[in-house]
Order: sequence, then structure tokens, then C-alpha cells
Amino acid sequence: MNLRDTNLTQLSAQTYDVLVVGAGINGAVSAAALSKKGLSVAVIDKGDFAGETSSHSSNLAWGGIKYLESHEYLLVNKLCKSRNHLMQSYPSTVQEIRFLTTLQKGFRFPALIVYLGTLLYWIMGRFFTRFPEFLSSAAIEAREPVIDTSNAQGGFEYSDAFLHDNDARFVFNFIRGAMDNGAVVTNYVSAQDAQFIDNIWHVAAKDEISGEPIAIKAKSVINACGPFADAFNAELENKTEHHHVFSKGVHLIVNKLTKVDKVLAFFASDGRLFFVIPMGQKTCIGTTDDKVDSPNPVVTDADRHFILDNVNALLNLDQPLTMADVISERCGVRPLAVKGNSGSSDWVQLSRKHAVDVNTPKRLVSIFGGKLTDCINVGNEIADTIAAFDMPLPKPHAKWYGESSDAHKQTFLDRAALINLDALTPVYSSELLSTRLWRRYDINALQIIDEIQRDPQQAEQLMHNAEYIRAELHYAARREMITKLDDFLRRRSKISMVLRSSEILSSPGLLEACEILFGEQAEAKLAEYQAMIAQRESSK
Ligand SMILES: Cc1cc2nc3c(=O)[nH]c(=O)nc-3n(C[C@H](O)[C@H](O)[C@H](O)COP(=O)(O)OP(=O)(O)OC[C@H]3O[C@@H](n4cnc5c(N)ncnc54)[C@H](O)[C@@H]3O)c2cc1C
Repeated sequence: MNLRDTNLTQLSAQTYDVLVVGAGINGAVSAAALSKKGLSVAVIDKGDFAGETSSHSSNLAWGGIKYLESHEYLLVNKLCKSRNHLMQSYPSTVQEIRFLTTLQKGFRFPALIVYLGTLLYWIMGRFFTRFPEFLSSAAIEAREPVIDTSNAQGGFEYSDAFLHDNDARFVFNFIRGAMDNGAVVTNYVSAQDAQFIDNIWHVAAKDEISGEPIAIKAKSVINACGPFADAFNAELENKTEHHHVFSKGVHLIVNKLTKVDKVLAFFASDGRLFFVIPMGQKTCIGTTDDKVDSPNPVVTDADRHFILDNVNALLNLDQPLTMADVISERCGVRPLAVKGNSGSSDWVQLSRKHAVDVNTPKRLVSIFGGKLTDCINVGNEIADTIAAFDMPLPKPHAKWYGESSDAHKQTFLDRAALINLDALTPVYSSELLSTRLWRRYDINALQIIDEIQRDPQQAEQLMHNAEYIRAELHYAARREMITKLDDFLRRRSKISMVLRSSEILSSPGLLEACEILFGEQAEAKLAEYQAMIAQRESSK
């Protein structure tokens, strides 16, 4: 039986301490924290892990510099602390990056005032990152000639952090951690309804692949449904203090535009922050920030034009970017927490604070809003909340997050050196193989080294430019619950972000990848993916 089938059968086999509904970042950290602290945990998601908002972010772990403008000093202070903690805990994954910021003439503040803001930000960040620098227009252009400084008043460079692989992979590693702690986790299982009877939650769930019903019992439930949290609470007839409003955000991925690996930051034509973010050999540009009513957003031509028009106006490109240059798109809604029914009129000002609402008699917890940056705080807060339900944590002080120790890393690097792993790095790769494998798999990267040692062909790339080797596919097939091909291409890896669908579908290695991932179902899963791409293209 594969991992998913095994876990499916276990979902109904016992009464869990906690059922986490939703496996975006908030559900993933809740599950990782609670399972490590000794509770029995089940996790379900109606789609793939991080299949919604948590795979559409800007991939930044940032202290929220823009909230200084709305004087939210406490929030910035807290986010800076969270960012620093993430950088310390995940030195290979969450890394400092410079933001080269250009201010246009006529901007609402003079550049020097904004620069003083970055100094305050740096101080609130406890001097953890490099010092911010004030820059003239000429200095900006010297650092990155692609920036059009003809209308610039100057700018500055300061630091924040980014998620090196991508958001979905970051989330998945918490999910995998929860599984390693004994949690029973399954993707493509939706919670349809739930009733609290005799102090136990009886959740009616559905396997979205087979259509079969599944009955799950748990002493407590965490509603981590992100943008769908209100809908799930409505199913449960659970009245909450908070609810969500949605802000749609779109990013476009294009070929690499910049010389330097820095985030280029601007204020777009609508006055809001606009980023040009390095993504390996590609560049991610965006984002939009528009109020929408639906949690299921789509990219419109207006979104595409907004982003392309801004980037063409702000950069000196040889040729203006057009729709034809877009390799892939990301589109999600930010679930923003508001209290009661307020907030709809001033939603642009809404900060991205999270809120946790607790229904103590029913042991039901709902998570609203939040950021990837704040994920460790969310995990800790949820563990404390569950413990307060008279459900003591068997190992309250167990540490549930963070990269393995330097000693473990050295063990991996020594093994990598023994087989001369880095010599196998493909020429077009943006980094050494040992760097990438450690970051993605931590100490489990030793399993990949074992495979390569057994069979050197395991170090070969299967798809040109994909930065993914055969041994990783075998590893993914065993441990990463790849249920659909898109799970692998879009969320465990970022292949479908950096390669066009046409390149992926014509890649000679694709069928072999499917065979490794799905065995005898390979052709059916490939056909399912082809149909998904065809449908997406036809709806553009
Ligand atoms: C454009 C954009 C840029 C952003 N940039 C950043 C950034 O740079 N840095 C940062 O820190 N944050 C950023 N954010 C915010 C961050 O991405 C979100 O706050 C975070 O991902 C929300 O996570 P979540 O777990 O609450 O929701 P989600 O990731 O949406 O997860 C909810 C999950 O619940 C599942 N679900 C829903 N209903 C059910 C059900 N009935 N049964 C089972 N499962 C269900 C869904 O399938 C989904 O997987 C950005 C957001 C956007 C949209």
C-alpha cells in the first residue's frame, strides 16, 4: 500500500486528540507542533498540501516594513522577531536578501524620510541583518542597470528574508515533520460536516479521489481552512469573533530580468509595493492587492496588464515584456482577519495579523489571517490553546521546528564529499547539489546519497532545466504523498513555475517521472495532468 492509502485506512481507526482541517501553513505548523508535543493528530486537506494560499505568496519572510507607514510598530516588532527566529532556525531555507528600493519623484514621502524608516526597521529587527544604505539614483543604477532611474528621486537598500525553495515546499516540510512524529496526514480528503456528540467530534469527510465517505473522530478540531475557514465554521454552526475578507494577489514568472540576486522594490502606479523577486534562473514579479469576494480567484487580463505595465515602466528592458514572456502565474487570496463585521471599508489598511478564536466548550479552534513569516508563533499558540482544553501535552517543551544540527549537516556533507556529489551538479544548475539537497531534505538527504551511491544514474536530471534528479523522484514517491502529477510539479518542486507547460509536456523524462511516482497508474496520471493544462489554457 502506498503512503496515502495507508493513512486513509488509519483516519477512521482511532479517536484522535486533534483533527487539523486544512494543510496550508497554519494547519501544517499546528500539526507539527502538536504531534511533536505528544498528542495524536490527524490532518486532512481537501486538495493538496499548501494547495491554496500557501503556494501563492511572494515567498518572503519579512518583518512588515510597510506597516510602519500605518504606525503598527508592535506588529512590525513582532514580525521582525519572527523573521529573525525563522532565519536562525532555517539557515539553509530562510535567508537574508537585499531589497534595492527605488522611489519615484513625487512619491508621498521624500527618499530620506523613507530611509529613516528603514533605519528604524533595522533597529526593530535587532540589528540582525545588514545595515540599510541610502542611495542616489546613480548609485541605484550602478548596482542594477536594469532599473530605470530617469524619474527616480533616489532610494535605499535594506534587508529582509526569502524562502529559498518556495512556500509550498516550506509548508510540506512541516507536514512531513508531522508525519515523522506519528501524525496521520492525508491530502485530497475534505471535511464536509461535523457534529460534537458526547464530547467527541464526529467529522464526516470525503476522499476526493475515490468519492468514498470517511468518518473521523477527534477530541478537538482545528479549523485551519484559510480562506475557507468561514465556510467551514458555517457548516459547524460555529459563531466566531473574527471572519475573513479577501485580497487577491497575482505574480507572474518570467525569464531572469536582473543582474543581481536582490529583490527590486518599487511603489507601483497604485501606490502600493511592487516587487521583482529573484527565483533561480527566473524572476517573479508582482503583486496585485485587490479586494475580492470569492476565495477562488482567477488571473484576469487586467491583472496581467497591471503587472506587465508596471514592470515595463520601472525597468529598462531591451524589449518590453508581453504576455508571451509569461512562463507561469501564481494567484491566491490573502485571508485577512477582521473583527465582527468591521473592516470591509478600510480593508487596504488591514494588517496581516493572525487571530485565533476558541470555542472552549466544543474544543474547536479557528485560525484567521496570518503570514508564513509568523508560522512558529502560530504553532506555539495553537499548542498552548489545545493544552488549555484540559488536554495536557505529554512533551510540552519538545522543540518541533528548525533545521537539524550542524553536526548532522556535517555528516551529510562528509557523505556527499565521499561520493563527490557536487561534481554531478548539472551545468545549468543555480547551486551545488549538496546545497540544494540539504535544504530540501535536511538529514533525509542521506537517503538520496544512498541511492546515488548504489546507482550513479540516480544523480541524473530527468527533465532539462528542472533541477531535480532521479533519486529525488524515488524519494518523493516514497515519502511525499504525490497523489497527482501537479502535486509534484507545482508544490513539492517548483518545476511548473519555472518551465512552460509546453516544455514540461514535451520533456522526454516526464513519462519516466510518472512511472517512478505512480507505477502502473503513470499514464492515467499523465493524462489527468494534460487535461488540467488543456483546461487551464482554454480558460485564459
Ligand atoms: C499574493 C500573496 C502574497 C503573499 N506573500 C506573503 C509573503 O511574502 N510572506 C508571508 O509571510 N505571507 C505572505 N502571504 C500570506 C500567506 O501566504 C498566507 O497568510 C498563508 O499562506 C495562509 O495560510 P493558511 O494556512 O491560513 O491558508 P491556506 O494556505 O489557504 O490553507 C488552507 C487549506 O485548507 C484547506 N481546506 C479548506 N477547506 C477545507 C475543508 N472543508 N476540508 C479540508 N481542507 C480544507 C484548503 O484546501 C487549503 O489547503 C501572501 C499571500 C498572498 C495571497
